[in-house]
Amino acid sequence: MDFKTDNPQEIVKLLSLRGEQAEALRREARKVRLREVGDKVYLRGLIELSNICTKDCLYCGIRKSNPCVNRYTLTPEEVLQAADFAHKEGFGSIVLQSGERRDEAFTCLIEQLVREIMRQSDGKLGITLSLGEQSEDTYRRWHEAGAIRYLLRIETSDPALYARLHPAGHSFEERLDCLRRLRETGYYVGSGIMIGLPFQSTEQVARDLLFLKDLGVDMVGMGPYLEHEQTPLWEHRHLIPSKKERYELNLNALAVLRLLMPHINMAATTAMGTLHPDGRRASLYTASNVLMPNITPTLRRKDYSLYENKICIYDSAQDSFRNIIKIIQEAECSLRLFEQGNPLHRGIPNV
Ligand code: SAM
Repeated sequence: MDFKTDNPQEIVKLLSLRGEQAEALRREARKVRLREVGDKVYLRGLIELSNICTKDCLYCGIRKSNPCVNRYTLTPEEVLQAADFAHKEGFGSIVLQSGERRDEAFTCLIEQLVREIMRQSDGKLGITLSLGEQSEDTYRRWHEAGAIRYLLRIETSDPALYARLHPAGHSFEERLDCLRRLRETGYYVGSGIMIGLPFQSTEQVARDLLFLKDLGVDMVGMGPYLEHEQTPLWEHRHLIPSKKERYELNLNALAVLRLLMPHINMAATTAMGTLHPDGRRASLYTASNVLMPNITPTLRRKDYSLYENKICIYDSAQDSFRNIIKIIQEAECSLRLFEQGNPLHRGIPNV
């Protein structure tokens, strides 16, 4: 079977493979992964800085209209301590992630945190931000402070589906503009999608993968959509594929994307680990080369609940790290410590 294709209909067929044929697709992806980026796995210590959010995405547990969320922002000391843990353990990189805020106090807080993390790690720790849609000026300030990578998922590349997943005032065009701004500012740009959403077809997922390729992203974080009872999307849960289906589709999507974009960094997501106990290992074995151990202070983790049953919420940072070493070994990959693991090439947009 020929797995190399840029044709959406052919990609739909690949995404729909199951059983032995799916295994063959995933073996091919692993072969390409080993050849192009090796068996290396890089770590990004994930710090969930704050669950305060001004957005109201219909799928997300920390959306601003969810009154059940116990809102928090980590203190600068908590963030610096977590970053120090990552640096000393040799993680190479951290990700600062948060609900979206665009006020000056927040912009300043991030700017100062990035500078301080750079200072305390002698500039050795790679800093990735995942803080949503921001102005050009804000992206520039954070980049000048020392952040080198930015993750902003497009969630879906289909404007009509995007509109069904977001309330008024959330703009697909603005999200695209932000991705362009990030590239122009000089970040390594990461994006991604959710897979197995209500109203989403396999053809849309196929087009998403081609979209990521055309955008020339350097990094991808894509994982399954998972339900959350306190969100508006919950009432459509009968429309989402079974867990098994979502799992198979996700693994095939990772495999196809590795074939389409052999050099990029791809995360084995926490959502995949939540969907299936073998999710992160299988992602790494097939195509992914990045893991994001959660190093948020343990007491705060349950409050960063994007979806239900999220794994690792009671683990300490040390537990998360130990767990991840085991997963990497089981995936027959090799852990790279004290390396930032930046993408091999800068992506070149084709749009
Ligand atoms: N505010 C930043 C942003 O919008 O990029 C970062 C935080 S946001 C919560 C991070 C990601 O969580 C989103 O891009 C989305 O893909 C994912 N997410 C939110 N709710 C989810 C759900 N129910 N299932 C799976 N992923 C979800």
